[in-house]
Amino acid sequence: MHGYAGKILTLDLSSGEKEIIALDETMIRRFLGGRGFVSSWLYENLPGRVDPLGHDNLLVFSSGPCNGTLVPSASRGSIGAKSPLTSIMGSGNTGSPFSVQLKRAGWDMVVLSGKARRPSYLFIDTGGVEVVGCEDLWGKETPDATFALRSRHGSRNVSIACIGPAGERQVPIATVIFDRFRAAGRGGIGAVMGSKNLKALVVKGSGGIQVAHPKSLKQEVLRFVQSLSEEPYYKRYSEEGTGVIVAPMHDMGCVLVKNGMSGDFESIRSLNADHLKKDWFIRQKACFSCPMPCTQQYGIREGTYRGAYGEGSAAASVIMGFGPRCGISDIKAVAKAYTLTNELGLDLISTNAVLAFGMECFEKGFIGTSDTGGIPLEFGHVPALLEMVSQIGMKKGFGAILGQGVKKAAELLGSGSERFAPHVKGMDMMEVDPRGFPSWGLMFAVSSRGADHVRAYDVSQIMPFSDEELVAIAGTPEVRDMFSPRGKGRSVAFFENIRAVADSMEVCRFVTRGKLGFPENLVGMLRAVTGLDFTVDQLYTIGERIVNVERLFNLRAGMTKAQDTLPERYLREPLPDGAAKGKTVPMAQMLEDYYKARDWSLISGFPSEEKLENLGLSLVGF
Ligand code: SF4
Repeated sequence: MHGYAGKILTLDLSSGEKEIIALDETMIRRFLGGRGFVSSWLYENLPGRVDPLGHDNLLVFSSGPCNGTLVPSASRGSIGAKSPLTSIMGSGNTGSPFSVQLKRAGWDMVVLSGKARRPSYLFIDTGGVEVVGCEDLWGKETPDATFALRSRHGSRNVSIACIGPAGERQVPIATVIFDRFRAAGRGGIGAVMGSKNLKALVVKGSGGIQVAHPKSLKQEVLRFVQSLSEEPYYKRYSEEGTGVIVAPMHDMGCVLVKNGMSGDFESIRSLNADHLKKDWFIRQKACFSCPMPCTQQYGIREGTYRGAYGEGSAAASVIMGFGPRCGISDIKAVAKAYTLTNELGLDLISTNAVLAFGMECFEKGFIGTSDTGGIPLEFGHVPALLEMVSQIGMKKGFGAILGQGVKKAAELLGSGSERFAPHVKGMDMMEVDPRGFPSWGLMFAVSSRGADHVRAYDVSQIMPFSDEELVAIAGTPEVRDMFSPRGKGRSVAFFENIRAVADSMEVCRFVTRGKLGFPENLVGMLRAVTGLDFTVDQLYTIGERIVNVERLFNLRAGMTKAQDTLPERYLREPLPDGAAKGKTVPMAQMLEDYYKARDWSLISGFPSEEKLENLGLSLVGF
């Protein structure tokens, strides 16, 4: 078997019972790997009404066929479980050597159930798997836990995924931190890990990864890298990171400012790339095997934010999230908040969403210092923000309320705050204001893990596609028009399908954000790695199958079509200022077109029988 280790490990942490399952070609041809494996496994093996924090929930880590090969950016890995934040599919994808080492240790996928008797970590290598007690690590923040595990197991060919205090306390917005700086697991997968008494996974690889046609792979990779170097985003991301898009997005009117109370942030340019490359910037860095180093390593040595250290301070989500969303214009304060979030093991997007939501509640007088333990939770108040991040991570004070995510927090706080609580299906929304970017509003509404931008990452309005290409993507070049609903439904469905393919090959969303993410540009590398005769059409079908399997998982878990929407603010409250002043999201038409493109019922939201048959899917456990 080329490109795959050929084995899946299941382990019941309660009983210690293990099973080794041979990976079969049918599963590969149907779901490819990575995200496809995680989603299909959860659909086929996890009953609909399982308690996300109970023993029966499954926690799945998967690699993909390209991990550990020459394929550019194939450093990604997938993780999934039923989400304690949303009660639907929870999942994530990250760039770290974890999935490469997992495969080199002999496993394509690891599936964990049950709960360890005491705080433990899992050590996986070619010799097998061992559950190791670790009371001494419980309570440690993610850098300290990672250092301690590295001192035991070394750094060479070792990768570590761990939770911080937030995951241990089962905070529903806790995530998993890989190799100190990389996060994956939106929807509280860190809390699922904590519920299993699992502090970390340590994987040590020593085996090789065989590719079917090395010469042809080399040619395909050279062609891909050449095309990448010609893409307009390559140079900018490599030199400045994804943060370069923040000011242009603000100028388009689609950056959330003060929780969506505004579309205009006066200080936006104090957060741009020039201000990042000051004395505390260390270097641009790439994930393992990526030719496009989009990540900044930073370290603040002096002043109020001394000790802030990490990677990714200039990522768009970091800047937009702790910057305009929370009314903060000091980039060092943003870096400090981000560092703290990672150390505690919190999900970046959910954390800045709940903070901004709390700030609006404070500004409107729905809460006061008597609720927040004396903390003036005002927009732009950095000490208050940093203290609240700590409280969320430690599940204490007012942070224990915010840490439940904006949906639950709004239910608890009442006063009509649900109207501006930024979530879909309980998942805290990312930092783009959909009134300035309606197709992203549709993406948030229909994504299989709740308000989420990376499932589709629709770039029809922001990449220079030709009219012909837009017709192929969306049926009309009018999709290019930011505010016209036309073509948006089909476009979002198209991008959801192709992103599912890339996630299953485990190549990065940023590298493949434009045409390089089309199956036409990926299939050659996949064939060369696996030796399997995949066609372009088959890849499109695999992507569609994965999206549908995730839909079925969610419907079985109790999700309804009525939840495919946005909070009232974005549908009925026009943006008061900024470039998209006066806009709301024209959801109804986009949503109807999306269902038609998907062949999902306009009444129930279920895929049609014909669609399921064509994709080879059936209703399991309904
Ligand atoms: S583009 Fe950035 S996030 Fe993606 S793999 Fe490369 S370095 Fe990592």
